[in-house]
Amino acid sequence: MLSKTEAVVLKAMKYRETSKIVTLYTRKFGKINVIAKGAMLTTSKFGASLEPMSYILAVLYKKETRELQFLSQADVIKPFLNLYSDYNKMTLGLSICELVYKLIKFEEGNQNIFKLLVDTLDKLNEVRKNEINLLWFFIIHLLEESGFKINFNSCVLCGEKFTEKNLAQKIFFVVDKGGFLCSKCGFDKGENSYSIATFKSLAWLERAKIESVTNLKIQSNINSEMQNLLSDYIKAHFDEPVNLKSLEIYYKLK
Ligand SMILES: [Zn+2]
Repeated sequence: MLSKTEAVVLKAMKYRETSKIVTLYTRKFGKINVIAKGAMLTTSKFGASLEPMSYILAVLYKKETRELQFLSQADVIKPFLNLYSDYNKMTLGLSICELVYKLIKFEEGNQNIFKLLVDTLDKLNEVRKNEINLLWFFIIHLLEESGFKINFNSCVLCGEKFTEKNLAQKIFFVVDKGGFLCSKCGFDKGENSYSIATFKSLAWLERAKIESVTNLKIQSNINSEMQNLLSDYIKAHFDEPVNLKSLEIYYKLK
């Protein structure tokens, strides 16, 4: 069956002499692998449309029984040029694609994840400051869509709603439960403690609209804590290890 669908290229690998195997996250079918014959040839009709982070309209021959679909056409819908010319943006954009590539199962279409992916790459392409906030925003919402929403509202042990009064300077994150402890329940638990600034920044990012996500300036030590918290959480709930190490280069450049 010939199908047309919007898609984002997550990964592309050379296959045999002239072809490419490309992993797409599509609006209609979720994550799929396609083969693009002749894509390595300089005269290829695919041009540069099959680079990671490309936002394309894909035409494919899809068969239910086949694991690898044939890509017959790919046209760039909107080029995210800054993601390729700005090293920081490239690092973040590739991390976003890697997260979808590793954490999302094949053939499970999810319109919300598709929209989140396109909107985040689009915004990353456009912004001029605090780009890294978009990665945290993306992870928080990807986790939510995958059934692993982090609870920023109330203590995961006693259920009390968080207020200024029951939050200490250090807050304990319970990885198994995907939430935090209030100051009464989380007394003296050194490991997995995070500063209140980290908690508040994450909670802010969860509620923020994508248009305003980069308005918040986050200190680099808070960024490191958020990276640790989210990495630990992903490691505990998904089989695939996700290495956000490429971000360390990002911090060094800042
Ligand atoms: Zn509590």
